[in-house]
Amino acid sequence: MEQKPLKNEYVYIKNKERIVNLQSLILQKLSNYFLEEGFKWILPVITSKVTDPLWPDPGASIEKRLEFEIYGEKVRITQSMIVHKIIAVSLFTDKIFTFSPNLRIEKPERKNTGKHLYEFTQLDFEVRYAKSQDIISFVERILKKLFIDLMENGIYRKEMECIKEKWETYDSMDIESIYGREWEQILANKIECPVWIKNIPREFYDYQDPLTGKWDNYDLYLPGIGEVLSGSKREILYDRIIEKMVRDRINKENFMVLLDLSKNGELKDCAGAGIGIERLLAWIAGEKNVANVQLFPRIPGVVDYL
Ligand code: ASP
Ligand code: MG
Repeated sequence: MEQKPLKNEYVYIKNKERIVNLQSLILQKLSNYFLEEGFKWILPVITSKVTDPLWPDPGASIEKRLEFEIYGEKVRITQSMIVHKIIAVSLFTDKIFTFSPNLRIEKPERKNTGKHLYEFTQLDFEVRYAKSQDIISFVERILKKLFIDLMENGIYRKEMECIKEKWETYDSMDIESIYGREWEQILANKIECPVWIKNIPREFYDYQDPLTGKWDNYDLYLPGIGEVLSGSKREILYDRIIEKMVRDRINKENFMVLLDLSKNGELKDCAGAGIGIERLLAWIAGEKNVANVQLFPRIPGVVDYL
């Protein structure tokens, strides 16, 4: 594992004031919009028996899954709160959001992408009875509002002019036929405004139409940055979830509460998404490398002292 000289760490941190100010403003605005729209703010979980399998996912590159024992029980570190979100909106409230620390130990080869971090924060949210289009419209509305509010605070990037445009939507299969299998890396450099990508084959919890095989999911791509949000309408039917878990060789034991609720018909239709805070911040700050917006950077393959 590579380590930087300690002195570099102090210099680096001292230079972060501009970013931390911008981050505070963005977090204040975003949390206000969610509260104003009637979302309940829940706090994150870090250790749990259940977390996002992050598999299968075309964009995944996981070196190691963090699992250990406490009180004689095996727990995992949160990769995303997807399961907790679905359970919360099914059982007690219709709209939730959280700022969730996600640990995804990316392969060290991702050190120089400038887009990956092994710890990042996701503004993760879920809405009972929402359709995909409701989530897409909501996200466009709050992000455009954020850009207007930032401009009023004297923060301007020419890309923010995109608030006047319609954000185009493409099917991942069409994008793949143009840019090839590695389209995720290429797309960000081909776009001038944010674009939505739909129908991405991935984890069991995203809804897949059993007749057409199409996935009812959506990712938002930012120019120069790449995927800043991923989300979907959720799969809630027991037989469908089991079928996909078997197909993907996912261990059912790790999802017992979700499966139990599903079997009893207690999972509610819902949809949601998560916004990567560091990537959003990097785009707004005009930083090419997401590690530059973290006060204590978490670059794949690099373990700093702080
Ligand atoms: N936040 C995502 C979702 O809501 C899950 C993920 O982290 O990929 O689907
Ligand atoms: Mg996912």
